[in-house]
Amino acid sequence: MTGPGHAGRRRTGRGYAARESTRRRRAVFADRDGTIIEDHQYVADPGDVSLLPGAVEALHRLRALDFAIVTVTNQSGIGRGYYTLDDYHRVAAEVDRQLLAGGIVMDGTYFCPDAPGGNPETTCRKPSTIMHERAADDLGLATAGSYFVGDKRSDVLPARALGGTGILVLTGHGAAEQASLDAEFRVAEDLLSAAALVERLEAQTGDGHAGLRPGR
Ligand SMILES: [Mg+2]
Repeated sequence: MTGPGHAGRRRTGRGYAARESTRRRRAVFADRDGTIIEDHQYVADPGDVSLLPGAVEALHRLRALDFAIVTVTNQSGIGRGYYTLDDYHRVAAEVDRQLLAGGIVMDGTYFCPDAPGGNPETTCRKPSTIMHERAADDLGLATAGSYFVGDKRSDVLPARALGGTGILVLTGHGAAEQASLDAEFRVAEDLLSAAALVERLEAQTGDGHAGLRPGR
């Protein structure tokens, strides 16, 4: 039982484990306004930043599943001239401060300043996947098998292009967006319900999830 064949299999086993441990981490790409914080149409003042109920708990639960958590947010108010880049950064800093108070540090935050109506080939504005792909490059993440969560159809559509799961939350604009949602996407009451859904989906797929297997 201890012949070369056995030893060979053991070496193969260790090799596979090594590949598994270096596979890219998946992410939860979360929209900001109407998903993590209250959507006041255009959030231009740090004083208007308020986390949605359950958001911090949701992010802790997603982190516990070993997902990277990345904010991807359309900020057309910059491109429309409603507020400045500095305003955006002040608001973003306040979001980070409130999340940190709850023990959460995002792995990354990506924003698109473009107004609607730009060239669909080049705009970063969701449903473009430019922000997600940039985050994946910067942070070494896998987009396939990741989750795409937000209160608009444009937040979940990147799941289709990148091979993940889209979850529409019914906070923010979500309730209004639900009617036009394609059947392939999931729906959750809020970010906390979305986290619970991710927990259930991950428990179902386990290690057999095709998206988890490198290169096959
Ligand atoms: Mg939103």
